[in-house]
Amino acid sequence: MRKNDWVLIIAVLLICAAAFGIHFLRPRQAGMVEVKVDGEEFGTWPLYEDAEVAIGETNRLCIEDGYADMIWADCPDKLCVHQRAISRDGESIICLPNKVVVSVIGGEERKTDAVSQ
Ligand SMILES: [Zn+2]
Repeated sequence: MRKNDWVLIIAVLLICAAAFGIHFLRPRQAGMVEVKVDGEEFGTWPLYEDAEVAIGETNRLCIEDGYADMIWADCPDKLCVHQRAISRDGESIICLPNKVVVSVIGGEERKTDAVSQ
């Protein structure tokens, strides 16, 4: 093999490695957590950033490892706290007594831009 062939092969390998690296270094296509209280938007948080969100005085939401979970609520039934953590587009945790709705938008299963919705 000539020297130029090796240069070409190495260049191709480098390009492949770069493309591979970029693919995995990009932020994950995780969605946003949207919180509504009494039908009005309370706020949105990215699923990929760990956070603890106080929803007014009544509910507390924990975002960790791409999952959103209601960790505390002052409602009598505690159904929202017992609901499992949500991570996928369209999933939601609902606290009926406090009129709190937590839902995932633009998660893994949908390719559209969450911001444009
Ligand atoms: Zn509740």
